[in-house]
Order: sequence, then structure tokens, then C-alpha cells
Amino acid sequence: MVNLLDFDREGLASFFVELGEKPFRATQVMKWIHQQAVVDFDAYTNLSKALRQQLKEIAYVSQPQVQMSQTAQDGTRKWLLQLDSDNSIEMVLIPEEGRNTLCVSSQVGCALDCCFCATAQQGFNRNLSTAEIIAQLWLAEHILTQEGDQADNAKRAISNVVMMGMGEPLTNLNNVIKAMNVMMDDFAYGLSWRHITLSTTGIVPALARLKETCPVNIAISLHAPNDALRNKLVPINQKYPLAELMSACRAYAKGNPQRRITFEYIMLKDINDSPAHARALVKLLQGFPAKVNLIPFNPFPDTRYICSPRETIDHFRDILVQAKLLTVTRKTRGGDIDAACGQLAGKVRDRTQRQFKLFNKEIVNETI
Ligand code: SAH
Repeated sequence: MVNLLDFDREGLASFFVELGEKPFRATQVMKWIHQQAVVDFDAYTNLSKALRQQLKEIAYVSQPQVQMSQTAQDGTRKWLLQLDSDNSIEMVLIPEEGRNTLCVSSQVGCALDCCFCATAQQGFNRNLSTAEIIAQLWLAEHILTQEGDQADNAKRAISNVVMMGMGEPLTNLNNVIKAMNVMMDDFAYGLSWRHITLSTTGIVPALARLKETCPVNIAISLHAPNDALRNKLVPINQKYPLAELMSACRAYAKGNPQRRITFEYIMLKDINDSPAHARALVKLLQGFPAKVNLIPFNPFPDTRYICSPRETIDHFRDILVQAKLLTVTRKTRGGDIDAACGQLAGKVRDRTQRQFKLFNKEIVNETI
């Protein structure tokens, strides 16, 4: 039995061709599943009765179960989604004037061990399947549509997707690309690449592949302007140091003058927030089509970090702005329900797997 949510259009067309059907069945079925949210094959009236019957025997459409949902004072919503008996993930909706942004998870936990991130403290269990990734958008669309909510300027309820939930999307690249293909497909959600942003610590070889196959917007979790500090905060830097990362970013931006790369920089008191750090950041990003997002640190239980005070953040920002770097301080959303950046926890069965996987070459190569 196959879950039809696991296919992008190309995959679904091959699936139908193998059944002796025409490839256009894929677009018909995608519309039913993703646009009409109809998952009962009997209702697919533009398919023959025989094909409907055959589908029932070999295929299904299934999404994670909503275990819990919470709404923050600022309207941010968070859902805990159960994938199987051992694993849950979190997904977050950030409603803003005229747009609804969905923050999507790509893994159960995370293997990268960034010390300021709550997801990292959970350890890592497994990659999400394509179905589990796209089902988050399916579910959010479905829930909001049922509530009668739609973004002002869009037919669909979710206008933007950020791959910024739990996990490192570029170490689950095949599934993430297939899911993003569905997000951008006109027979599914029809989002343009401008409305999808993938956030990554910077898995260098995967960036090249992403550009080739599915060049959405990227945001790099930079957090430090030099290797010594970044090695500590984002340990994957030991494998892909800044010089390599920056040249991969340059290659990603090349050929598209409209493309800006976002650099995320978390503000940690007395760790990476001095004027000297700001000046070093200016030097690193000079001449680059960059946008800097300063992210106030969001605390979680047992963390040893503290968020930089407002004046420190403002001063840091002013140094960047004076150097003509486009810079915004990200507004923290949903902090009262632990839905803010770096606070997503979910439920992970095996905390030990990270120890085996981190820096194991396979962590990258197995998925690219
Ligand atoms: N692994 C990817 C996707 C996660 S996105 C990545 O690292 O980019 C989540 C974003 O929130 C990243 O920029 C991450 O560095 C940031 N973040 C993590 N923990 C945080 C915290 N406690 N407070 C604020 N931002 C945090």
C-alpha cells in the first residue's frame, strides 16, 4: 500500500503509468487530494469505477493525527502532530496582515546539536517522509478552510511556507524537495518560490543540489561571524566552514539578480552580540545580496543562554544598517506557547541517535 501524499506530480504520473493509465491521472488526483481535500477515492468522479476500485486496493491518503493545538495571545498557533506511536512533531502558523505563514518541520528532532536550540536538546530520531512534510500544509489548509479563514490576497489559506520547524531540511533533501515540488505545483498549492523559504545551517553540497532542482529562497543560520565562534554555536561549521558556506551562498544567488539570501543571526547576550561581532559580520557579508534577520534568543528550560538586551540588539542592528546591510530584527511570535524559533520540541523516541549520526559522513551523503 502506498500513501499518495508521498508523490510529487512526476512520481504520481509514473505511478499511474505503471498501472497502465495515462500520466494526466496524476493532475486529476492531485487536485482531489490537495485542492479539494477529498481523500475518499470513491468520490473521484473523473476516474473510472475500475480505477477507483484499484486505488482502494493499493493506495491510501493519510495524514498525521492532531494531538494538541494551542493559540498564543498574538494569534500564533501551534499543533502537535502524531506521526506514529513513538514520534510527534510541531507545526506553527504565523498569521499576519494579509498573509498566513506556515512553519513546517522536516525531521523528528534534529541531529545538528546547536546548543541554543530546544529541538537539538530532544535528539534526533528520523527523517520525515514526503507525505509527513506535505501533510502539514494539507492539514493547515484543511483546518483553516474549515474555519473559513483565507489570506486576503490568495485563494488558498496558507500564503507562505517556511521550512523552519524541527530538523535540518538539507539533510532530508530528497523528501523535502518532493514536498516543496507539491507546494509549488499549480495542481496542488501553487506557491511561488518567492513564498517558500528554506532555513538551513548550511549543508554545502546540498545547497548546490537545491539550486539545481528546486531553487526556493534560502535563509542561512549564521549566528557567528567567524569560524571559532560558529564551530561552537553551530557545530556543523566544523565540517562546512564559513569560507565554503559563503561561496556556496554566492553560487546559489548567482544568475538571479532578484535573489537575496537571508542570514539569520540569533542574539545571545555576551556571546555573539558585541559591536566587534557586528563589524566582523559586515565584513563577511560585504557586497553580498544579503538580508540579515536578527533573532532575539527565545529561552527554553535549562538553557544557559540569555537574550541580548534590546539596546544591544538595536546597537548591533545600527552598525549593520550604517554599512548598508538590509537588516531587520525578527519579532518573536508565540513565545507564550513555546511556538517561537528554536522552541519546538515534539516527542522523540531515541535521544541517543544523534551521538551516532553527528559528523558521521553518512548524515549528509545518505540523503543527497
Ligand atoms: N535547522 C534549520 C531549520 C531550523 S529553523 C536551521 O538551523 O536553519 C529555526 C531557526 O531558529 C534557525 O535559524 C535557528 O538557528 C533559530 N533558533 C534556534 N533556536 C533558537 C532559539 N532558542 N531562539 C531563537 N532562534 C532560534
